[in-house]
Amino acid sequence: TQPPSDALVFFGATGDLAYKQIFPALQAMVARGTLDIPVIGVAKSGWTREQLVERARQSVQEHGSIDEQAFARLSDLLQYIDGDYNDDATFTQLRQALGGAQRPLHYLAIPPSLFGPVCERLAASGCTQGARIVVEKPFGHDLESARALNATLHGVFAEADIFRIDHYLGKEAVQNLLYLRFANGFLEPLLRRAGVREIQITMAETFGVAGRGRFYEEAGAIRDVVQNHMLQVLGLLTMEAPANQGQEAVRDGVARVFKSVRSLTPADVVRGQYAGYTREAQVAPDSQVETYAALRFEVDSWRWAGVPIYVRVGKELPVTCTAVTVVFRDPPQEVFADVAPHTNFLRLQLTPGVQVTLGLNTKRPGAGMKGQSTELTLHRQEASGLAPYDRLLTDALAGDATLFAREDEVEEAWRIVQGVLGDAAPLQPYAPGTWGPAGADTLLAPGLGWMDPDPDRGTAVPA
Ligand code: NAP
Repeated sequence: TQPPSDALVFFGATGDLAYKQIFPALQAMVARGTLDIPVIGVAKSGWTREQLVERARQSVQEHGSIDEQAFARLSDLLQYIDGDYNDDATFTQLRQALGGAQRPLHYLAIPPSLFGPVCERLAASGCTQGARIVVEKPFGHDLESARALNATLHGVFAEADIFRIDHYLGKEAVQNLLYLRFANGFLEPLLRRAGVREIQITMAETFGVAGRGRFYEEAGAIRDVVQNHMLQVLGLLTMEAPANQGQEAVRDGVARVFKSVRSLTPADVVRGQYAGYTREAQVAPDSQVETYAALRFEVDSWRWAGVPIYVRVGKELPVTCTAVTVVFRDPPQEVFADVAPHTNFLRLQLTPGVQVTLGLNTKRPGAGMKGQSTELTLHRQEASGLAPYDRLLTDALAGDATLFAREDEVEEAWRIVQGVLGDAAPLQPYAPGTWGPAGADTLLAPGLGWMDPDPDRGTAVPA
């Protein structure tokens, strides 16, 4: 086990992410007893400590619920340093505020362009001794910039002290995926090429860019959620069992399977854009940025060779839901002529709740041998109270990097998507509220369309 951090330095404490996610998480951590160290906010708003506390209170009220006792304790822990990240004096003040802290955690909830300057000044001012650093996505915007960013971080911090947040990994359901696979024996012989026809992963959102047009124009669906969240899910789903109980075992497993994932080419992707996207605020009228992507992955490993893995992500789709569907092979010979094909599947809903369902065929009750396709709910759980940022910041303070993206995973993930970034493939329009461009069907192997990710909408198998 690692020594716990003894101070939390919070760069970007006045920002949007801090307001929407981090203050509620900090209050929850205090309430759970996982945060009892100084929290030093650093930003340049010209605020006082009292103003930061007031902002934190508003944040918790709007994006959580206030727990007066825990909040009072959090406000006792809060300090504030006002200064520019490009000014040495800011870091001199920080060094003083850290006092005798031996293992500070620096959390960078700031634009990535500032990671370099902040790291350098942290080092020059003596704030990096024994320190850890947490950085927010995006980890670069392509392979080259990701390598440059990693080099910048490594100029000051060892990889073991770098925590790259992919908040998706903090979700209960994503961890449940690991549990389901590696706490049960019965799935193991099925989850391989002999048992599986194909895998589909869908991340659907009913909303559009929701006021974040400027950010989205720089990203698009592939950079925003495929390179990171979807590939992490794919990695946990297809990795071999962790080699041991050690800290690095899960990340080793994901990094290894990533190395077997083929680099995508334009033929492996269909890009879409919802009608009306170019009229959103801060979006170019001729924008070629995708709000939808369907992709076909191939894993060149003994376990998965020949099993296509389809991923589709999109905004303005019919539901907000993320699910993985593993479609099993059909029986080798037909015994019952009325059994529909591709009706054996395992579906793991990851958001909004956790649900595991099994698609299977049973006999319709009554006279005659007539079948029916049904879904058996194996496990159902509403969203857990533990927010991803609560879990992840708690882990980072404890020095546990299991749920953080490692350098090699990040670079492999960029290598995989590099060939389909930007306008590598033509953009196809789609109407809001639909399942995206019809062209996405052409990616799939014949015989089965896209499975519905939402178990509450009836059967997954397309009609
Ligand atoms: P933001 O609202 O622009 O906040 C930026 C923060 O950095 C503010 O606290 C700002 O302080 C401070 N800052 C910027 N330049 C500074 C400088 N030169 N000196 C001192 N302080 C400076 O950004 P954000 O949306 O919170 O995003 C932060 C990070 O989280 C980014 O890496 C982003 O990609 C990532 N992220 C954000 C979201 C989200 O929903 N917002 C989601 C996932 C990841 P002042 O306010 O005092 O100027």
